[in-house]
Amino acid sequence: MAKIFCVANQKGGVGKTTTTVNLAAGLAKIGQRVLMVDLDPQGNATMGSGVDKRALELSVYDVLLESASVKEAAVLSDKCGYWVLGANRELAGAEVELVALEQRDKRLKAALAQADGDFDFVLIDCPPSLSMLTLNGLCSAHGVIVPMQCEYFALEGLTDLVNTIKQVHANLNADLQIIGLLRVMFDPRITLQQQVSEQLKDHFGDKVFDTMIPRNVRLAEAPSYGLPGVVFDPSAKGSQAFVEFAQEMVARVQRMGAPKVQAKLASGA
Ligand code: ADP
Ligand code: MG
Repeated sequence: MAKIFCVANQKGGVGKTTTTVNLAAGLAKIGQRVLMVDLDPQGNATMGSGVDKRALELSVYDVLLESASVKEAAVLSDKCGYWVLGANRELAGAEVELVALEQRDKRLKAALAQADGDFDFVLIDCPPSLSMLTLNGLCSAHGVIVPMQCEYFALEGLTDLVNTIKQVHANLNADLQIIGLLRVMFDPRITLQQQVSEQLKDHFGDKVFDTMIPRNVRLAEAPSYGLPGVVFDPSAKGSQAFVEFAQEMVARVQRMGAPKVQAKLASGA
């Protein structure tokens, strides 16, 4: 069964897309079957996975409007080793078109359910807003990965996101939880970043991932070559951190599954 994660944060430019494509590439590298879903009409995660958004025959738009299945619309990125359900500007129109439809926030969930056996991980790159698109992502997911920079206003922004996730959990998707906060673009030489990082640990405890993603120019350069850093320059510090993060995610997913197995064993089922 595929584990589905949204990479979300209402702020733009915090590293959502970088996290999505590099985690996807890191997971693929350690042998996981991965589908990356681009839910942002900007299509950066699509382009950053080596798939030309302008040349897509089918995209996540067609899947949301039920004119194509995930299997039909996803393409394999040979270079990256994972599948891409891409997006382009057409997706911006889906927002309006979905409003008139039934189960408009559960469209992606229904489509992904049909591809459940094909992947170990599904990663969803969300746009920087709480739109119908993001809601489709949150309704589909078992958990949310929140990339954040350790800056002064980071904690404030987090309150809104945490409340949104609580509401979705209460009303639409009881599975949903924050899997973890990922410290990105981290520069340990900056005292403020260290302080905010400590505050995060105090507030959120083990919800903060152990892995930290450093600020690393190779990660920023990679998208212009249409690749995640992990593929573009595997030896870069940032790329190595993302492979480490992939390993941490696999371990966390195993722990997520564990209590249910134990409960079953205990009940003799
Ligand atoms: P979002 O998807 O949240 O808008 P992006 O992933 O596009 O954010 O990142 C915003 C910018 O920061 C991009 O130019 C990206 O290349 C750069 N960036 C992201 N993570 C890092 C990092 N660890 N080191 C250096 N640059 C980064
Ligand atoms: Mg983005």
